Amino acid sequence: MREAGPHHHDSWGRLKAAARRAMPATDAAWRAPSGGPAGPERQPEPASFLPYGNGRSYGDTCHNDAGVLLDARHGMAPQITAFDPETGRLTADAGVLFSEITRHVAGHGWFLPVTPGTQFVTLGGAIANDIHGKNHHRRGTFGRWVEEIELERSDRGVLTLTPSENAELFAATISGMGLTGLIRRATIRLMKVASLAIVETTTRFDTLSDYFALAEAADARHEYAVAWIDSLAGGRNFGRGHLICGDHAPAGDETGDKTGDDSGEASGQLASIPFTPPVSPLAGPFLKAFNEAYFRKAKAGTHTRTVPFAGFFYPLDRIGAWNRLYGPRGLHQHQSVVPEAGAEAVVRALLECAKSHRQGSFLTVLKRFGDLQSPGLTSFPRPGYTLTLDFPHRGEKTLRLLAELDRITLAAGGAVNPYKDARMSPETFSAGFPGWRRLEALRDPAMMSDFWRRTAMRLPAAASPVLAAPATPAVPAARDGDNSNGSRGSSFTIAETIVAARH
Ligand SMILES: Cc1cc2nc3c(=O)[nH]c(=O)nc-3n(C[C@H](O)[C@H](O)[C@H](O)COP(=O)(O)OP(=O)(O)OC[C@H]3O[C@@H](n4cnc5c(N)ncnc54)[C@H](O)[C@@H]3O)c2cc1C
Repeated sequence: MREAGPHHHDSWGRLKAAARRAMPATDAAWRAPSGGPAGPERQPEPASFLPYGNGRSYGDTCHNDAGVLLDARHGMAPQITAFDPETGRLTADAGVLFSEITRHVAGHGWFLPVTPGTQFVTLGGAIANDIHGKNHHRRGTFGRWVEEIELERSDRGVLTLTPSENAELFAATISGMGLTGLIRRATIRLMKVASLAIVETTTRFDTLSDYFALAEAADARHEYAVAWIDSLAGGRNFGRGHLICGDHAPAGDETGDKTGDDSGEASGQLASIPFTPPVSPLAGPFLKAFNEAYFRKAKAGTHTRTVPFAGFFYPLDRIGAWNRLYGPRGLHQHQSVVPEAGAEAVVRALLECAKSHRQGSFLTVLKRFGDLQSPGLTSFPRPGYTLTLDFPHRGEKTLRLLAELDRITLAAGGAVNPYKDARMSPETFSAGFPGWRRLEALRDPAMMSDFWRRTAMRLPAAASPVLAAPATPAVPAARDGDNSNGSRGSSFTIAETIVAARH
């Protein structure tokens, strides 16, 4: 087995340190997991595999600690293999980053139709999680823009998937979290834009009810819309925040449309967090003072300005390894979606729950999902409102809070996002994603993830006891081996950029 290189293959939450085994996805070894050379030099074959993109998932859907990761980037040279500037159709290897796609197509007036809060995700990872952006109400999920997938399976070889050819496997692969096989290449449609720059409109609101009074009309008017919530404000300020909307600027506006940095590492960044502080500074009095100041930064009323696209979509990318600010034990992100009817009361209950557990969320984001159907079998987005909360991992008390948030979400008929998760129960997953049984039936027998092992494989209908064991602990272990030296290393500016990034 050829190693993919000295990469840690962490997930973004950094909840569990492990020496992970990986090999380039092009390596032939995974295709015949039970084969391999006979003889004394033969190594015990790994039990299972899992594609790995760029590790921007927060939890353990991109991990398979009992097996081997198939790295779609390292040890390979992923390429954009075709692009038609007339139609905006693009074909690329799965390991190509969104930043690389933008750089390739922007000069021709095209942009990604759906993009998350970081441009350092791979095409394969975006399909496998059927990601969403700030324009879900207009464009739906990323999977809606996928025309064709070239999928390689250990049992069936290379297959072409489209909405009409191998249609069920196409639907299962979009949102399939890497379990249906290795996406080698995909063809997508891009979105025509007059300019990359964004005309950003910020409206400060004083209560949660004010947000709910604004959200639907904002979606109707704007391509992009999302809200930041000051989750620490109480009393009559409860649920206050900023509603940030955006539209592509008219042709000719070139406000900061540079598409240069696609490394995902430190270059071109505002700052980089060089080590992990022993205790997360994103807590306690700092958090409250920061939220207060950030809220006041936007003047009352509505304000409009034109901003560079990278600042609007990806400000977090300007701070290298910002996830280290959550301390050596990492961070949990809890993203829920709840139906539109009654959403205000449920979101209120979720925010009150976090507040009553005295674990402020540093970054709290609220967004309305539209009703465009996601093509994936187990896609997370669905009509309603989605609330995202971030918490430094503080052991049992954080896990108790997260379980309570799950309970409120499920009682409201909602779901918890798997690709942000490292600890939800099998029952929570099953309740939000009834399509999991079909995905299990279509799973490539060579593929397995830590997430799947600790959720689906523990549910009664799951088939494979061999792959189900050994189970990874549901409680993430504290991270060790961090190069911490006691300095805090955070600044207001960095914190501000992090919050702006999540709008
Ligand atoms: C700062 C930040 C902001 C974010 N904002 C958003 C957001 O707004 N909306 C949103 O939806 N998500 C968001 N995310 C999450 C992120 O977009 C997704 O987790 C994304 O899928 C990560 O892509 P990746 O390439 O890093 O894949 P990984 O995290 O490495 O893997 C993700 C999944 O894809 C599978 N996979 C990867 N490559 C392949 C392949 N070639 N073939 C088959 N399966 C594959 C893996 O097995 C895994 O299950 C954000 C993450 C960060 C860090």
